[in-house]
Amino acid sequence: MSVRDVIIIGAGPSGLAAAIAAKKHNLDYQVLEQGVLVNSIYRFPPHMVFFTTPELLEIGGMPFVSPHDKPSRGEALTYYRKVVDRFDLPIAFDEKVLSVAHNSGEQLFELETGSSKGARRVRLARNVIFAIGYYDHPAMLGVPGEDLPHVSHYFGDPHLHYRQRVVVVGGGNSAAEAALLLYRAGVHVTMVHRHPALKRTIKYWVRPDIENRIKEGSIAARFSAQLTAIRPMSVIVQSIATAGIGGRRGRFTGAGLDDRIAAGSGCVRGRGNSGRRRLPVDRLPRRHGTAVSCGRATERPQCPDAR
Ligand SMILES: Cc1cc2nc3c(=O)[nH]c(=O)nc-3n(C[C@H](O)[C@H](O)[C@H](O)COP(=O)(O)OP(=O)(O)OC[C@H]3O[C@@H](n4cnc5c(N)ncnc54)[C@H](O)[C@@H]3O)c2cc1C
Repeated sequence: MSVRDVIIIGAGPSGLAAAIAAKKHNLDYQVLEQGVLVNSIYRFPPHMVFFTTPELLEIGGMPFVSPHDKPSRGEALTYYRKVVDRFDLPIAFDEKVLSVAHNSGEQLFELETGSSKGARRVRLARNVIFAIGYYDHPAMLGVPGEDLPHVSHYFGDPHLHYRQRVVVVGGGNSAAEAALLLYRAGVHVTMVHRHPALKRTIKYWVRPDIENRIKEGSIAARFSAQLTAIRPMSVIVQSIATAGIGGRRGRFTGAGLDDRIAAGSGCVRGRGNSGRRRLPVDRLPRRHGTAVSCGRATERPQCPDAR
């Protein structure tokens, strides 16, 4: 079995940049991607616009030309395809790395991979680069019901939720953008955030929009509140100010009026690899992600009343 100098896990912008560097250093390398090229960007909402200017997204010194200040998802997909073609990068798509083990005797990494069609294989490399991003490793809320089918930890096309009720959990930039996109797609949105105000890190052009939508009541917001359970037709939201001292809870139940959809975001830290231990890839370093859960709505929801 051939032993590569380096195997790069992930064909996102970071993995591609690493591959270009490996090529420039004449290394024997291979990129493994569980999905399609720049899979995370591919899964963005279709009309998503980046918040950085095109030149900041460039890799390998290849110009990213766009007529817009901030390029769209579609332009980014085109750009990264051109990068791969220009540098002729070897990428194995639909090959997910399931585990990585280090054989310290032979100083080799052994990667076990699988495809969506059920094919399994083992690859060997002297070095491994993890360029796996963080979208596949969402921060879980850890509440009952989070595994229900109407809960999602990835935000895609808001059209899917037209005329439904969606709860967006979190108060950072991702939560604000998701809430705005959902609202503009005809979705009844409620934000639930554990802090008393939206995060300071919200982009300066997003902040007035989300604050005004909350002020005018177009988007309902529950601050200093946390989601404590997700049910098929309702969620439980608890006021943090009163939690733990017999705090009262708001329960939003079905029959159309108060059933809710939930989404969440937050941060978790993962553990690194060590010794010869075989480490499942889903336990590799993780950062943050967004969870969405959804349900049907027949009426505009009231702002949840957390008493
Ligand atoms: C709405 C939105 C807007 C954004 N706007 C900007 C912006 O304007 N500017 C900016 O710089 N960033 C922006 N970002 C963040 C940007 O998406 C990330 O910075 C970028 O995608 C990170 O690149 P990456 O290669 O590190 O990770 P990713 O793009 O997440 O790539 C990781 C790759 O690894 C693959 N992978 C994961 N696990 C495995 C495995 N076990 N086996 C094989 N493959 C695996 C994934 O499928 C994926 O293709 C935005 C994000 C969102 C959600």
